Amino acid sequence: MLRLPKFRYLQPKSINEAIRIMADSGPDAMFVAGGTDLYPNMKRRQQTPKVVIGLAQIKDLCTVKGQPKEGMVLGASNTLSDVTADRRIQRAYPAVAKAAELISTPLLRNMGSIGGNLLLDTRCNYYDQNYEWRKAIHFCMKKDGEICWVAPSSPRCWAVQSSDCAPVMVAIGAKVKLVSSSGERVISAAELYNDDGIRHLNKRPDELMIEIHLPPVNGWRATYWKLRRRGSFDFPVLGVATSLKLSEDGTVEDSKIILGGVGSHPVEAVAAQKVIAGKKLTEDVIREAAQAAYQPAKPLDNTDFAMTWRKEMARFYVSGTLRELAT
Ligand SMILES: Cc1cc2nc3c(=O)[nH]c(=O)nc-3n(C[C@H](O)[C@H](O)[C@H](O)COP(=O)(O)OP(=O)(O)OC[C@H]3O[C@@H](n4cnc5c(N)ncnc54)[C@H](O)[C@@H]3O)c2cc1C
Ligand code: SF4
Repeated sequence: MLRLPKFRYLQPKSINEAIRIMADSGPDAMFVAGGTDLYPNMKRRQQTPKVVIGLAQIKDLCTVKGQPKEGMVLGASNTLSDVTADRRIQRAYPAVAKAAELISTPLLRNMGSIGGNLLLDTRCNYYDQNYEWRKAIHFCMKKDGEICWVAPSSPRCWAVQSSDCAPVMVAIGAKVKLVSSSGERVISAAELYNDDGIRHLNKRPDELMIEIHLPPVNGWRATYWKLRRRGSFDFPVLGVATSLKLSEDGTVEDSKIILGGVGSHPVEAVAAQKVIAGKKLTEDVIREAAQAAYQPAKPLDNTDFAMTWRKEMARFYVSGTLRELAT
């Protein structure tokens, strides 16, 4: 059985107290919400904070405010089950509700938070192993080692962005609010992510994510399709989040097509967006866009399934999302 290492657990009751404890604790501290990502990582010694700051008692992180017309603000500690069950989110932001509902199992969705999901660690077959397994291969660049076993001559880590909600938040243009003892900032979900398996977040460790801002719906429609081996439980090996603004006659006025699980960050399929801009979504246009979206999908051999098949599936999933939104 894998055991947690020793750590000090502190449970602030307010956002200000959480920020103060983090500032006092220094770089060895981490926040925890549901713990469904952090605690398994600690058991495998991938992350080893000496101080863990639990967010469970902070009621201000569990609010849902606003209306779809003006935009909604979700507290970062809302559980995935809360997000899935919220009628306003189901109706106005179905892609968010769907992505949250497709995560793991009901038990984990009852614990796991939307904020924790957006800040999920990147994943790799050579990293998501216990300490002894990783030690046997002399570890890897992401933790305790020097080499990348996926691409040994590479100077960077290619661990995979595996959060289901991340591509959706980027596709719909959501923003996140981060606070720390040095102030607060609001950045777009797209800015939150870096194309680097180790430094995958543009967020300092001392910054607490307090809110996720969903933009006004304003005629946009979005969906999310997830590829995984088992129909429950598994992380995505490909996730396609597509968001479209269509005119009354079905012409694409604006779009975002974001691929998850194919790189270290959510990848924008820019060429595919250009293909559909100003056009109606006929079968020919959809085929051309899917072909264009297939190019930037560059999965490596470090998660489930053959990488060539995952790349090929990007084409089918992009077509599927476009067909769904066109009808
Ligand atoms: C068996 C299994 C299957 C899973 N399947 C999926 C899946 O299919 N799709 C998927 O997307 N995820 C999956 N997960 C991962 C995880 O359950 C979810 O991503 C969940 O939403 C994480 O939320 P959490 O609150 O538990 O995060 P935590 O473990 O509490 O935190 C995750 C990270 O975010 C940080 N953090 C959390 N909240 C904040 C905050 N407010 N401010 C700053 N930092 C914060 C923590 O320090 C940590 O680094 C799976 C996990 C398991 C164990
Ligand atoms: S991509 Fe390479 S460096 Fe990154 S976790 Fe995997 S093996 Fe390690």
